[in-house]
Amino acid sequence: MTTPTQVTADGPGHGHGQRVVVAAAIEHRGRLLAARRTRPAAIAGRWELPGGKVEPGEDPTQALIRELREELAVDVDVVGQIPGPLEGDWPLDGLFVLRVYRVRLREGSPAPGVDHDELQWLAPHEVSSVSWLDADVEPARAAMQRIDTWVDFPAGAVLGSGTVRWVGPLDDGRLGVIVDRTPFHPLDHGWPDQPGDIGLLGGRRVLDSLTATIDDGGLVQVGADIAVRRGDPTRTWAVAHVLPAGSSVSLGEGVELVVDGGSRNALSRGHSACHLAALALNQATAGFWSKEPPRRDSRGFPFLDQIAILESRIRPNGASDSYRCGKSLRKAGFDSESFLADLTGVTDQVNALLTAWVAQGAASWIDTGGDPTLAAKRTWICAVAGGPAVIPCGGTHVSALGELGEVRVSIMATDAGFEVITTVG
Ligand SMILES: [Zn+2]
Repeated sequence: MTTPTQVTADGPGHGHGQRVVVAAAIEHRGRLLAARRTRPAAIAGRWELPGGKVEPGEDPTQALIRELREELAVDVDVVGQIPGPLEGDWPLDGLFVLRVYRVRLREGSPAPGVDHDELQWLAPHEVSSVSWLDADVEPARAAMQRIDTWVDFPAGAVLGSGTVRWVGPLDDGRLGVIVDRTPFHPLDHGWPDQPGDIGLLGGRRVLDSLTATIDDGGLVQVGADIAVRRGDPTRTWAVAHVLPAGSSVSLGEGVELVVDGGSRNALSRGHSACHLAALALNQATAGFWSKEPPRRDSRGFPFLDQIAILESRIRPNGASDSYRCGKSLRKAGFDSESFLADLTGVTDQVNALLTAWVAQGAASWIDTGGDPTLAAKRTWICAVAGGPAVIPCGGTHVSALGELGEVRVSIMATDAGFEVITTVG
């Protein structure tokens, strides 16, 4: 914080008569930005959440946006607040209070100006690794509690350890537990294709894993109750480990996390096979399009899977995908009649492609774009013949197609269109 002088701005609803200094909890890829002060001499070398004083008549969030542009050369979005004990603010001194906003980078990467000589992106377990200004210790700790949960399932991990951040009953009476880092894959709330992992948390049974969010008021929402899109930055994104009713877990407890490897592996096999079947379907149905399709897949084929999918359900060693095949698809240029009349031919082509791809044994992995959190935009990549498969995906996968053994589909007509049943092994 700059030493405040002649500041008259008062935040809306603030009743202390104290004036406001704003500071930023900047979260990026699961880390919090800390900045080292160069001045005044009394605090030089200490670390802070960057920000500054609110000018007379200035809106506090606008003041923060301005300060970060001046001090760190970044454009930011203010997405929320880290509420403190003084009607939402944090104690600073007799005259001033500190208001801490949650901030995301819009453009630029922060660079120190004159007020700072060093910046650090701190992981959640590193919050105590720098010497914070006294007034910033508690706000920084609270801000770390709002960092999106780090997840290790995209790299295939089934073991990990974390610190318990939240414990509470779920609607059905079972216990929900949120930790700062986990290998557990949760069911996605918006596209619930792959079931959540099961296993052990601190030796207690985990019956299910669900997506959870935390808002600025501390409200935790789980699964279908979440009304925002995945990754919405106003929320903190987390994994709710579902334990039996009556389980006992303490806040701040360090826990070992063990995913049931057999269950995970069977779901990964089902999920990879599901994606392969979708790609093979795109290729095998390319001839039924009479004009340029609305979308093409990464291998250049009309993306029938994404254009027509209604629902996808991954199960151990398999998947079921329902598609529409009606008027709108026909309008887009897809010859539904000819396709439905030739399901046997299409099925044979799809199975031939799947056999060839599995025999080729290509590698398969998840690209997180360097973001270790649950909120990352993740992509499944597989080096199949004829161009790599690249599909947005939040699930888990085998590391090489050779692990699948055999993948086969059956395709049948339904009332809405058609269904693809994929089976592994
Ligand atoms: Zn997927």
